[in-house]
Amino acid sequence: MAADPLPSSELFIEALRNPGALDESELDYWDQEPPYTYQPNSVEGDQYTINLVDVMHGRRLRQAHQQEDARIAGVEAGDTKGVRDGMQADLKAAARNWKRVRDAVHCECDGMECDCRESRMARHWMQWQARAVYYLHGDLKALTMGTHVFIDNILARRNW
Ligand SMILES: [Zn+2]
Repeated sequence: MAADPLPSSELFIEALRNPGALDESELDYWDQEPPYTYQPNSVEGDQYTINLVDVMHGRRLRQAHQQEDARIAGVEAGDTKGVRDGMQADLKAAARNWKRVRDAVHCECDGMECDCRESRMARHWMQWQARAVYYLHGDLKALTMGTHVFIDNILARRNW
Protein backbone atom coordinates (compact mmCIF):
# COMPACT_ATOMS: atom_id res chain seq x y z
CA MET A 1 0.00 0.00 0.00
CA ALA A 2 2.81 2.40 0.86
CA ALA A 3 4.43 1.85 -2.50
CA ASP A 4 1.26 2.10 -4.58
CA PRO A 5 2.02 4.50 -7.43
CA LEU A 6 0.50 7.97 -7.46
CA PRO A 7 -1.44 9.22 -10.46
CA SER A 8 0.07 11.40 -13.14
CA SER A 9 -3.10 13.13 -14.32
CA GLU A 10 -3.33 16.88 -14.87
CA LEU A 11 -5.69 17.11 -11.89
CA PHE A 12 -3.10 15.51 -9.66
CA ILE A 13 -0.33 17.80 -10.86
CA GLU A 14 -2.54 20.88 -10.53
CA ALA A 15 -3.50 19.96 -6.96
CA LEU A 16 0.14 19.35 -6.12
CA ARG A 17 1.58 22.49 -7.65
CA ASN A 18 -1.04 25.13 -7.37
CA PRO A 19 -3.66 24.83 -4.65
CA GLY A 20 -5.39 28.03 -5.82
CA ALA A 21 -6.12 26.55 -9.23
CA LEU A 22 -8.72 24.13 -7.90
CA ASP A 23 -11.78 24.59 -5.80
CA GLU A 24 -10.58 22.94 -2.64
CA SER A 25 -13.43 24.10 -0.43
CA GLU A 26 -14.97 20.63 -0.30
CA LEU A 27 -11.68 18.89 0.31
CA ASP A 28 -11.35 19.81 3.97
CA TYR A 29 -13.81 17.05 4.68
CA TRP A 30 -11.55 14.42 3.16
CA ASP A 31 -8.59 15.67 5.20
CA GLN A 32 -10.33 14.27 8.25
CA GLU A 33 -9.88 10.74 9.45
CA PRO A 34 -12.50 8.20 8.22
CA PRO A 35 -15.17 6.97 8.56
CA TYR A 36 -16.81 9.23 6.00
CA THR A 37 -20.51 9.57 5.52
CA TYR A 38 -22.52 10.27 2.42
CA GLN A 39 -22.29 13.98 1.54
CA PRO A 40 -25.69 15.04 0.20
CA ASN A 41 -24.41 18.34 -1.22
CA SER A 42 -21.52 16.78 -3.07
CA VAL A 43 -21.58 15.97 -6.79
CA GLU A 44 -22.83 12.45 -7.48
CA GLY A 45 -21.18 9.96 -9.75
CA ASP A 46 -18.14 7.87 -10.39
CA GLN A 47 -16.25 10.44 -12.45
CA TYR A 48 -16.32 12.91 -9.59
CA THR A 49 -14.91 10.23 -7.27
CA ILE A 50 -12.17 9.40 -9.76
CA ASN A 51 -11.23 13.09 -9.95
CA LEU A 52 -11.46 13.46 -6.17
CA VAL A 53 -8.96 10.61 -5.74
CA ASP A 54 -6.41 12.36 -7.97
CA VAL A 55 -6.95 15.78 -6.44
CA MET A 56 -6.53 14.38 -2.93
CA HIS A 57 -3.35 12.57 -3.92
CA GLY A 58 -1.96 15.88 -5.14
CA ARG A 59 -3.13 17.68 -2.03
CA ARG A 60 -1.68 15.06 0.31
CA LEU A 61 1.63 14.98 -1.51
CA ARG A 62 1.83 18.78 -1.31
CA GLN A 63 1.15 18.61 2.44
CA ALA A 64 3.78 15.87 2.83
CA HIS A 65 6.33 18.03 0.99
CA GLN A 66 5.55 20.94 3.32
CA GLN A 67 6.16 18.74 6.35
CA GLU A 68 9.41 17.47 4.86
CA ASP A 69 10.52 21.01 4.04
CA ALA A 70 9.92 21.98 7.67
CA ARG A 71 12.01 19.01 8.84
CA ILE A 72 14.83 19.94 6.46
CA ALA A 73 14.72 23.52 7.76
CA GLY A 74 14.83 22.21 11.34
CA VAL A 75 17.83 20.02 10.66
CA GLU A 76 19.61 22.82 8.81
CA ALA A 77 18.98 25.06 11.82
CA GLY A 78 20.70 22.49 14.04
CA ASP A 79 17.64 21.03 15.73
CA THR A 80 18.29 17.42 14.75
CA LYS A 81 16.94 16.09 18.03
CA GLY A 82 13.70 18.03 17.74
CA VAL A 83 13.20 16.85 14.16
CA ARG A 84 13.95 13.25 15.08
CA ASP A 85 11.58 13.30 18.07
CA GLY A 86 8.86 14.82 15.91
CA MET A 87 9.32 12.22 13.19
CA GLN A 88 9.21 9.37 15.68
CA ALA A 89 5.97 10.72 17.12
CA ASP A 90 4.53 11.15 13.60
CA LEU A 91 5.54 7.61 12.69
CA LYS A 92 3.85 6.14 15.73
CA ALA A 93 0.71 8.18 15.10
CA ALA A 94 0.52 7.13 11.44
CA ALA A 95 0.93 3.44 12.32
CA ARG A 96 -1.74 3.74 14.99
CA ASN A 97 -4.08 5.62 12.62
CA TRP A 98 -3.61 3.00 9.92
CA LYS A 99 -4.57 0.16 12.27
CA ARG A 100 -7.51 2.03 13.72
CA VAL A 101 -8.96 2.83 10.30
CA ARG A 102 -8.22 -0.65 8.96
CA ASP A 103 -10.39 -2.10 11.71
CA ALA A 104 -13.19 0.44 11.29
CA VAL A 105 -16.36 0.16 9.25
CA HIS A 106 -15.86 2.24 6.12
CA CYS A 107 -19.31 2.75 4.73
CA GLU A 108 -22.92 1.90 5.21
CA CYS A 109 -23.10 -0.35 2.15
CA ASP A 110 -20.54 -3.10 1.95
CA GLY A 111 -17.50 -2.66 4.16
CA MET A 112 -13.83 -2.67 3.37
CA GLU A 113 -13.88 -3.81 -0.25
CA CYS A 114 -16.77 -1.61 -1.25
CA ASP A 115 -16.32 0.66 -4.26
CA CYS A 116 -18.40 3.57 -3.02
CA ARG A 117 -16.80 7.00 -2.59
CA GLU A 118 -16.68 6.81 1.20
CA SER A 119 -14.89 3.48 1.17
CA ARG A 120 -12.48 4.44 -1.61
CA MET A 121 -11.56 7.63 0.23
CA ALA A 122 -11.07 5.69 3.46
CA ARG A 123 -8.56 3.44 1.64
CA HIS A 124 -6.98 6.57 0.17
CA TRP A 125 -6.47 7.96 3.65
CA MET A 126 -5.00 4.65 4.79
CA GLN A 127 -2.63 4.61 1.84
CA TRP A 128 -1.23 7.95 2.98
CA GLN A 129 -0.79 6.75 6.56
CA ALA A 130 1.10 3.78 5.15
CA ARG A 131 3.22 6.06 2.97
CA ALA A 132 4.01 8.21 6.02
CA VAL A 133 5.15 5.16 8.01
CA TYR A 134 7.27 3.91 5.12
CA TYR A 135 9.00 7.21 4.36
CA LEU A 136 9.41 8.28 7.98
CA HIS A 137 11.12 4.99 8.69
CA GLY A 138 13.58 5.57 5.85
CA ASP A 139 14.11 9.21 6.72
CA LEU A 140 14.84 8.40 10.38
CA LYS A 141 17.40 5.86 9.27
CA ALA A 142 18.94 8.39 6.89
CA LEU A 143 19.11 10.96 9.68
CA THR A 144 21.33 8.65 11.73
CA MET A 145 23.81 8.81 8.83
CA GLY A 146 23.94 12.58 8.78
CA THR A 147 22.12 15.73 7.80
CA HIS A 148 23.10 15.58 4.15
CA VAL A 149 22.08 11.95 3.77
CA PHE A 150 18.74 12.88 5.32
CA ILE A 151 18.12 15.80 2.99
CA ASP A 152 19.28 13.91 -0.10
CA ASN A 153 17.03 10.99 0.82
CA ILE A 154 13.98 13.27 0.87
CA LEU A 155 14.80 15.25 -2.25
CA ALA A 156 15.75 12.17 -4.29
CA ARG A 157 12.20 10.85 -4.27
CA ARG A 158 10.61 14.06 -5.52
CA ASN A 159 9.70 13.39 -9.08
CA TRP A 160 7.46 16.40 -9.44
ZN1 LIG B 1 -19.77 1.38 0.43
